[in-house]
Amino acid sequence: MAGSKVTVGNVEIVSLLDTPMEFPWAAFFPNNSRADFDPYTDTYPGSYAGDKFRTYAHCYALRSQGKTVLVDSGVGPGPVAFLGGIRGRLLEEMSAKGVPPESVDVVVFTHLHSDHVGWNLTADNVPVFPKARYLVPQLDWDYFTASDVASQNPQIQASVLPLKGIGVLDLFSGEKAITAELTTYPTPGHTPGHTSIMVSSAGERALITGDLAHHPAQVDRTEWCSGADGDPAQAVQTRNKVFDQLEADGLLAAICHFPDPGFGKLVRLQGKRVWQAL
Ligand SMILES: [Zn+2]
Repeated sequence: MAGSKVTVGNVEIVSLLDTPMEFPWAAFFPNNSRADFDPYTDTYPGSYAGDKFRTYAHCYALRSQGKTVLVDSGVGPGPVAFLGGIRGRLLEEMSAKGVPPESVDVVVFTHLHSDHVGWNLTADNVPVFPKARYLVPQLDWDYFTASDVASQNPQIQASVLPLKGIGVLDLFSGEKAITAELTTYPTPGHTPGHTSIMVSSAGERALITGDLAHHPAQVDRTEWCSGADGDPAQAVQTRNKVFDQLEADGLLAAICHFPDPGFGKLVRLQGKRVWQAL
């Protein structure tokens, strides 16, 4: 397995594992049979746990031009009831890997699902990352703060709206430069504003892809959708486009829910595209 740190040009990417998670297959991939995933067991053992789908909630810290940028903030301190009382450990990971919370300048969200915004605030509604601006995709803000959707997504009230009141939340659209080496890159489908982060430095590139896929088999079976893909047709279209690009250009990818640490490349073996973990 690769280490938890890679460099892309002059940018350092640190993988931070908030927690592994396990789900019944039918709950996570409601349109697939369990047998669909059987042929991939030996290739991607990290995505299987007994009779359950094993996945991971990663965040990524990017060090670029003197700034520390955190991509997503995990499931949070918990206990997270719908995940069986799980507790994230992001802050311990950050300490252990030399990224203290107080060093974070920017937190950028790939989207506003609950497993990506969990460590925003303490129980007293104080920002966990005290000097950070929090960047939210405008289209996700518009979608998730609509009253009917917000009422189904308690993380919005608990972990997102207070940031606006405190005055540390900024909305962004399209391709926005965070530093000269880091740019937001719209990858809609999983949610309306779902966004990846393009790293481009000294002739090297990488893409932090958020929830573009959840199981490595999806790099080949791009038409398979998790139940969390809000617009399946758009999600498939985006997966095809981005995975084709990653493969053609040989880019490094960091995929949030793939086996730890989530770094790899898309390569073609015997006619099939596979996830080659670093
Ligand atoms: Zn997710």
